[in-house]
Amino acid sequence: MKIGVVGLGYVGIITAAVLASRGHQVIGVDVDKEKVKSLNCNRSPIYEPGLDELLRKVKINYTTDYSKLSDVDIAFITVSTPTVNGKILLDHVFSAVSSLSNVLRRDAIIVMKSTVIPGTSRKAKELSGMEVVVNPEFLREGYAIEDTLHPDRIVIGGDKSAGDLVEEVWRFTNSPIIRTSLEEAELIKYASNSFLAVKISFANEIANLCERIPNCDVNVVTQAMGIDKRISPYFLKAGLGYGGSCFPKDTLAILGFSSELGEKLRIVEAAVEVNNERPLRAISAMKELMGEIKGKRICILGLSFKPGTDDTRESVALKILNLLEKEGAEVIAYDPKAKVEGIKIARNSEECIMSSEGVIIATEWSEFSGIEPILKGKYVFDGRRVLDLKKLDNAIMVGVSRCKR
Ligand code: NAD
Repeated sequence: MKIGVVGLGYVGIITAAVLASRGHQVIGVDVDKEKVKSLNCNRSPIYEPGLDELLRKVKINYTTDYSKLSDVDIAFITVSTPTVNGKILLDHVFSAVSSLSNVLRRDAIIVMKSTVIPGTSRKAKELSGMEVVVNPEFLREGYAIEDTLHPDRIVIGGDKSAGDLVEEVWRFTNSPIIRTSLEEAELIKYASNSFLAVKISFANEIANLCERIPNCDVNVVTQAMGIDKRISPYFLKAGLGYGGSCFPKDTLAILGFSSELGEKLRIVEAAVEVNNERPLRAISAMKELMGEIKGKRICILGLSFKPGTDDTRESVALKILNLLEKEGAEVIAYDPKAKVEGIKIARNSEECIMSSEGVIIATEWSEFSGIEPILKGKYVFDGRRVLDLKKLDNAIMVGVSRCKR
């Protein structure tokens, strides 16, 4: 098929690359000239494992010119949908819909892959007069290619025959396909992300409890819980909380949306509240270890919101960094992939640790495990459970008893 992908961010580039690798003719459109230029020079603007290799193998036409989509069969919308002041911002989506409706063939199909609140795609359909199908994206950054090739399920919402065409695009995955209404497909994405956020916050509250009970380690508790098939082990890991471009904004967007409908999502509200508190806990752990942190040099290991990506959107590490600076600490950081301007960055973890009195593990990059020998004499808060507490002298680990019997 001839396929357009509108919005070349994390989701758009991966979708374009995977579809091109399946033999489709793909045209990628973005309003960001620099991004398009860099993609046309074979430079990916994002880090994602396997992406550079995949992009070298496929041929994709990148452009800022929507008119290049005039004869595509399907146009995927993968533009950003940020949450601003507790409300989803749909300007990018509607701008893309409007540009598409000016250039597409009348029988082409618009596929909404961006995460949008229920009702958005029906409105897009009415405004554009085009057939719109919802096909939410569930990929995880760090595993994005694998997740696009082999998703757990594919949700397709909307009209039967338009949905059939989208089903044909994804049939190669052999994944279960669920056909729904437009609104159900939109809500499935929010319900899924909110539920995962709830699981993470639940594990984090159990971690808080473990810290106050002698002889308790949250990992032992959650591992045993996760063996129960009804619970499952995924997203039950205690740590510093969730960040990234999805959970924080999606939980707030669904809360804003539901309150407009006069419904309260109390469990999601609680998950957000628990998550907001996580960075503060890192600060109190450092104070517990070091006493005063004002004027002290503290190193943060990991800046990306999780390992395997350079994405720092809503990264907990950056929130901790800001809090430390507000408290008067001097901060230096190191991350294997993420690049952040305006902060002091070390060339490697050793340099970062050696120049500091305190160390916070904020992202669980695998290269941070086994660094206990160079942490000797430092005050360490392991917020991501990568170290062996027995090998450290002055350390606190999330979810491990802090009281001795
Ligand atoms: P992103 O911010 O990385 O990329 C969005 C791109 O859209 C940017 O390059 C931007 O320039 C472009 N854009 C904005 N307006 C445009 C327009 N009118 N026309 C053309 N291009 C335009 O976003 P992302 O992380 O790829 O997320 C895209 C959508 O997918 C969001 O709704 C997000 O919630 C959802 N999603 C993201 C992930 C993820 O892990 N990143 C996973 C699942 C779903």
